[in-house]
Amino acid sequence: MSWFDYQDPTPARITFDEWDDLFQQIPDELIDQFHYFPPNQEAWSKYLFPPQVFAIYGARHLRRLKFDNSLAALRLWGFVQNEIERLFRARQVGKKVVAVMGDLGPLAVIVNSVAARAGSSKDGGGCVAFYPDCWWWTPFAMESKVLLDKAAELGIGDATCFSRAALGAFAKHSYFPDPDLVIAATGASCDDYSGVESLVAKMVPEVVWVETPLRRVEPEARERVERMVVEEYQRVLKKLEELTGVKVTEAMLQQGIRRANHLRRLTQRLKELAYGYGVFPALETMVVEFGCLHGYSDIVEWTAIVEHLVQTGEARLAAGKTVLALDSLRIGWVTPPADPLLLCYVEDRGARIVASEYVINQALSLIDESVPPLLGIARSLLTGSLIGTSRERAEMFVTAAQGRRAEGVIVSGILGGSHCAMESRLIGDYIKQKLDIPILEFDVAPPNKAIDRQTQTRIDAFLELVRSRR
Ligand code: SF4
Repeated sequence: MSWFDYQDPTPARITFDEWDDLFQQIPDELIDQFHYFPPNQEAWSKYLFPPQVFAIYGARHLRRLKFDNSLAALRLWGFVQNEIERLFRARQVGKKVVAVMGDLGPLAVIVNSVAARAGSSKDGGGCVAFYPDCWWWTPFAMESKVLLDKAAELGIGDATCFSRAALGAFAKHSYFPDPDLVIAATGASCDDYSGVESLVAKMVPEVVWVETPLRRVEPEARERVERMVVEEYQRVLKKLEELTGVKVTEAMLQQGIRRANHLRRLTQRLKELAYGYGVFPALETMVVEFGCLHGYSDIVEWTAIVEHLVQTGEARLAAGKTVLALDSLRIGWVTPPADPLLLCYVEDRGARIVASEYVINQALSLIDESVPPLLGIARSLLTGSLIGTSRERAEMFVTAAQGRRAEGVIVSGILGGSHCAMESRLIGDYIKQKLDIPILEFDVAPPNKAIDRQTQTRIDAFLELVRSRR
């Protein structure tokens, strides 16, 4: 693709230092093009910066990763890395900052549907949803245990999922603005994160608790469960109306759903391009999948970035240019790796990811637009891989892995993670029984500069085994 005089180089995965060199070739007029909170064009909202900028501000792990070398991917990284700045700016321009916790997807669709108040400035008004849950990546990105230590001080220590970093972030008051409202899913959600939420509740003026049911598939139970979730969402709407002074109409919710579905369709296509044809690396693909949760606090600009990525991927496919060799070992991945370096490591050793189950199906499945909006959102929650049995999660993954002829599967667990402590083995056994391919399970080690020796050796041996079966 070309923008101004700039043309993407031949597709490749490049290092941190190589991005620095490449960034020198990007024209200033191009850098000026990209702003968050469109249509705002203020200088403070530019985000097209190279990884070096964010490494200087603390994201030290970027120095060790490999990146896709397209302009679209540069947009992705600049945008994702400046989310903290964006949340503080949101407050400054009059948006209500709403923390949604524990459901990974559906609640953000409701919050992001709340449009600006009548008469507000073009930048201001409306709500911005964000998931503090996603701060579980921060200790890895910063190679720092500061947030985990803070969580431990407050009572949640090492035997708990890395998502406890969110508790540390609330306590520090500097990783995101103190939210105007906190909405937290509880019930059939993760035990570890419920512990985090209950301590967060002591730090904030109020939490709107949303009961999350266990997914039930029997038709009779399903109707009851859906009704219950819709009633919970009606309470959420009431709170949002009190907060913003805006009457939330059905049309606003429908528009929010259409926007979420558009993003989810783009993400599906991007996954096909990456997993089916190797035109994007696994790391950027995972970042795109997680963008379906809340659009990294600006769903409009995030959608434009994913459109750009898909255009780039289609152009690469048409030109027969990939970043990963099509004869690479085809690996499926279950549970998002808290340390992104793991994805780069596997690709460096001749594999590519062809299927994933990152516990966020509820943010990826299309919302039914033919039923009342809150019912459609409730149904999307009930497609979730976050709630329900391990077997259902494994079944979802097996279908995807079969479709892509995965030759091996990695299940990356989380030490102490309640959905993972027992689940990795159960899921691994189920996949092995169905697909008869090698499975590797390991717990992701705490934040560090490199992948520990033991994990490296296990991954190397696993990939050797997969290769030997060809
Ligand atoms: S244990 Fe699993 S579901 Fe719970 S917070 Fe951690 S990653 Fe999320």
